[in-house]
Amino acid sequence: MSHLSHIEGYAIAHDRLWFGGVDTVDLAHRFGTPLWVINEDLARDKCRRYVSSFARAEVPATVAYAGKAFLTTSFCRLLAEEGMGLDVCSGGELATARAAGFPMDRVLFHGNNKSADELRLALEMGVARIVVDNLHELHLLDRLAGEAGKVQPILVRVTPGVNTHTHSHIQTGHLDTKFGFGIENGLAAAAVARTRELVHVRLLGLHCHIGSQLFDLSCYRAAVGIVVAFLAEVRAFLPNDAALELDLGGGLGIRYTAEDHPPSIEEYVATLIEATRRETAAHGLPMPRLWIEPGRSIIAPAGLTLYTVGAVKPIPGIRTYVAVDGSMADHPRTALYGAVYSAVLANKAGRPPRQTYAVAGKACESGDMIIHQAWLSDVEPGDVLAVFCTGAYHYAMSSNYNRLPRPAVVGLTGGQARLRVRRETYEDLLRHDLLSDGE
Ligand SMILES: *Cc1c(COP(=O)(O)O)cnc(C)c1O
Repeated sequence: MSHLSHIEGYAIAHDRLWFGGVDTVDLAHRFGTPLWVINEDLARDKCRRYVSSFARAEVPATVAYAGKAFLTTSFCRLLAEEGMGLDVCSGGELATARAAGFPMDRVLFHGNNKSADELRLALEMGVARIVVDNLHELHLLDRLAGEAGKVQPILVRVTPGVNTHTHSHIQTGHLDTKFGFGIENGLAAAAVARTRELVHVRLLGLHCHIGSQLFDLSCYRAAVGIVVAFLAEVRAFLPNDAALELDLGGGLGIRYTAEDHPPSIEEYVATLIEATRRETAAHGLPMPRLWIEPGRSIIAPAGLTLYTVGAVKPIPGIRTYVAVDGSMADHPRTALYGAVYSAVLANKAGRPPRQTYAVAGKACESGDMIIHQAWLSDVEPGDVLAVFCTGAYHYAMSSNYNRLPRPAVVGLTGGQARLRVRRETYEDLLRHDLLSDGE
């Protein structure tokens, strides 16, 4: 249907919504709602498009999926099969990668406040790169690597100071940020120089991540220009040609609504390669080995959330609220960022939309909205609502607010549905509660 023209991987048959070759109403009945659904074929296709874009250009690179967007052991397996790398930002994500048997020589560890325990774990597992964010961490890592008898390859995270046009909460490339070292204010140069004095870390290159849900490729060109110019400045502290590396982060946007027009994965990768080639040539540098860290652009369009409609509450002259059986606990991005989503009634998917509804969650919070203005056909209690593009930063950011158990995650592969994360039970919620010491 035209109002869903921006959505990938769906079909409508017998008035029902199909996703990844599976009837979503059947999924709701079989696994219950709310339900997070991941179209694994679609996620695989995105991974392949990233990996093959570098291969076609014959540019050595690792496409390190940003685990924070959505990470489970089964998804780690899928990534490993697709030849992807993995970017983790906590001990928990590292533990997930290890439990899945993910190859550690493709893992990169991020974070602006990695603990000593997390760094020890990363060293013990042998992660490929640690992206150093601050001087405290640089010295701590050097000491811990020394204790472990290792020399850890690192990248230094720099902030190029590019202003991206996106929500301020997800802007990370400008100077006033908790992430990395500023280039303009000299902090990055000082950090790079400092690595020379340390013997248990080996600096291979630089990292930058300028923001998320970005549509404008000129931001990336600008960032590459600034970071490569800086690379040329600090060349003396970097390894020989063959080992030089540059990590350009993630951030490619996706189509949450028909008004969103992000570039394709192919255009995005081509832009990064072109800009890096041009700028390194201009500064007499070799082409570095590239890393990128896409999260949202791989997993967001592959995800869908299914809810069952409960109360339908018309407020005369204002709007009609539709309350679903989930909430901001499983769908935080509307409350958190004012993010906008598209939806359809999965059991009436063939019918044209008739009016806009305000889709609310069931949490005790007025801000608990799923979609402020959803364009739907006539809604009745018991309908199954499918909210599109929820693969990124929902499961990953979910909570137990109001003591709501987290939904299950179901993966769709080749028209088959498989339970990937089981639904939480009340027992799960109570598991860590103690009535008295140690009881
Ligand atoms: C969040 C993040 C990413 C992934 O961003 P997406 O917008 O999901 O592609 C990559 N790298 C770093 C350092 C991040 O913080």
